[in-house]
Amino acid sequence: MLSRLFDSHLHTPLCGHATGTPREYAQAALDTGLVGLCFTDHCPMPAWYDAPWRMRLDQLREYVDEVRAVQAEFAGRLDVRLGLEADFHPGTERFVEGLLNAHDWDYVIGSVHYIGAWGFDNPEFVAEYEARDLAGLYGDYYALIEGAARSGLFDSIGHLDLPKKFGHRDPGGAAALRALDAVAEAGLSLDFNTAGWRKPVAEAYPSPDLVAEAVKRGIGFVLGSDAHQPGEVGYRFAEAAALIAGVGGQIVTYVGRVRQG
Ligand SMILES: [Zn+2]
Ligand SMILES: [Zn+2]
Repeated sequence: MLSRLFDSHLHTPLCGHATGTPREYAQAALDTGLVGLCFTDHCPMPAWYDAPWRMRLDQLREYVDEVRAVQAEFAGRLDVRLGLEADFHPGTERFVEGLLNAHDWDYVIGSVHYIGAWGFDNPEFVAEYEARDLAGLYGDYYALIEGAARSGLFDSIGHLDLPKKFGHRDPGGAAALRALDAVAEAGLSLDFNTAGWRKPVAEAYPSPDLVAEAVKRGIGFVLGSDAHQPGEVGYRFAEAAALIAGVGGQIVTYVGRVRQG
């Protein structure tokens, strides 16, 4: 049923908050009937940024070696690719650029996980939403997404409408549409991220409305489970593919940072 589908958003224990070996993720993909997967673990960042939630710079080589080993082991059975979920955070662009030049990545997601110093998708800091004006919050967030799109660093934007995670929905929509314009202009794709279906909001990222707006702009979608354990690989992909096909959207993947399909 999931044949021909590819999971391009997966983590490994190197980020400090995922379980299961890369080999187990690959076996799960094979068992689910996927044709391949692209590991995209949380990239190293400067030491002052979000350190407990990502691999250290001195672990990057180990990450690449682990993925390469799984790639070799599953060759001919499963297409295993090497990627990163990178963060966009103003001031860190040159650091990230250095990482991107250090290895032959297949696919790089650009995600915004912080508005200023606030890790807004961290359940520990969810109370902060009550102290914020939601329209302002989304305006600030989507301005960062525009920056990510224009940075030239990434192939796609991760979980586009992430601030809705705990149920705080965007009261407007204009900022999101401007961000989609920037994504389209830069020729990027969107991570269609099924993890949202596992969160309080109970809706994949992006929302059906934003998926339709993205399709209007010719933006493609890269399917991702955002798995942090092997059991989440390919999570609700049949539904995701049907939703995208239902509005005439295109599913793509990346090899060597070149869009396929
Ligand atoms: Zn994570
Ligand atoms: Zn993320």
